[in-house]
Amino acid sequence: MNKAVVTRFAPSPTGFLHIGGARTALFNWLFARHHGGKFLLRIEDTDRARSTDEAVAAIFDGLDWLGLRGDEPAVFQFERTPRHAEVANQLLASGHAYRCYATPEELAELREQQRAARQPMRYDGRWRDRAPEDAPAGAPFVIRIKAPREGETVIEDAVQGRVVVQNVELDDMILLRSDGTPTYMLAVVVDDHDMGVTHVIRGDDHLNNAFRQLSIIRAMGWEEPTYAHIPLIHGSDGAKLSKRHGALGVDAYRDEMGMLPEAVLNYLLRLGWGHGDEEILPVARAIELFDIAGVGRSPSRFDIKKLENLNGHYLREADDSRLAALVAPRVAARLGKTLDEKQSDILVQAMASLKPRAKNLNEIAEGAEFLFKNCPLDFDEKASALLDDSARALLAKTADVLQPVQFWTVEAIEDAIRRVAEDAGLGLGKVAQPLRAALTGRTVSPGIFDVLFLLGKEESLERLAAAGHATVG
Ligand code: GLU
Repeated sequence: MNKAVVTRFAPSPTGFLHIGGARTALFNWLFARHHGGKFLLRIEDTDRARSTDEAVAAIFDGLDWLGLRGDEPAVFQFERTPRHAEVANQLLASGHAYRCYATPEELAELREQQRAARQPMRYDGRWRDRAPEDAPAGAPFVIRIKAPREGETVIEDAVQGRVVVQNVELDDMILLRSDGTPTYMLAVVVDDHDMGVTHVIRGDDHLNNAFRQLSIIRAMGWEEPTYAHIPLIHGSDGAKLSKRHGALGVDAYRDEMGMLPEAVLNYLLRLGWGHGDEEILPVARAIELFDIAGVGRSPSRFDIKKLENLNGHYLREADDSRLAALVAPRVAARLGKTLDEKQSDILVQAMASLKPRAKNLNEIAEGAEFLFKNCPLDFDEKASALLDDSARALLAKTADVLQPVQFWTVEAIEDAIRRVAEDAGLGLGKVAQPLRAALTGRTVSPGIFDVLFLLGKEESLERLAAAGHATVG
């Protein structure tokens, strides 16, 4: 590629950053990074009724979380209205556009006739070749492009391949409305040009627009970008992705589902792009490998299970302090109290035994909760059932053996518990079960030696004593 690559992500701020938008952003970002180019952001806020500041904030927030930041400050399309109008007037002056004075009533009538005749509904070009003297004085007008009428327009799309449209199908679309505001189609083209965009990578729902956009680009004599229209994401059942399938805001993956951004990125990358069988593709590897040729032509199916598995992988890889910081507010929410410094340290230490089994941060928080509960614990049904008389006798013996342990290390704890088991003529599991119930109130937890270690000697003995005395069951 000889010209420096410039890509852009151009969301309309009418809602949160959804998973499809995030994937489009990712592909643009990766493509730019792979080629050492630039990735730009443009907020397409010309629809004033539907664009909101909250949506703009949510989009930036989602992109930030994923690490997909623009290389320059974002462009806000609405602020560039004068520039869009300028280009429309330039096209007018060069004869590539014309003023159309057709009234709304006339156009409604035209549509009605076309409908009755079962013809495609499109503007008929009635002002295209009229002499300027015909213009009704002072009447409102729109500016329309003189679209090519003969021949065909071809796009060599980097994903879709060669796509051809007969020019008779392209009508003379409006560039500037009668109130002087530019249309979306004009704004996109002017902004892409002024931002120096070389590659337009976006959802294939915009493929039809590309033909119309090209007629403006050609009329201006501007360089044409490379188009890459990527297939949309479908739900696991093959239907268009909706909320039911997980078409949620990126924030829901972070906040409600407790996913790590690197897992979401890896998942989105694999959703529609592939490199052999490689599933685990951290960002650096993705930058190294990404190319448009690896983007498939058929819609990809969203599979939450795959995302969860990837998340599990990245949780296991993640640094314990970072994880603990992400988990702490979730633990606090479950407990209804914030963790103090000592508890926060314990949480960091607990990560190594909590993360191997977890698929998301919520599961880690759930697994960590027992560490910070006040004694006496609440025992769930299964745990209560385990704490019968013989179990309590065993707990008392265990407490006796643990009491003299001086250096509270996992090894020393293991030694002690093995001794209890031997003396009682029981397997380790048989000792661990009631012990786990007494210490955590549950029947599932990290390994029992880790549990004892993380709780510390004092708290462990207190819990054993409490379980021994408590009337449970
Ligand atoms: N604003 C459009 C959207 O959110 C994208 C336009 C484009 O990428 O050209 O769907």
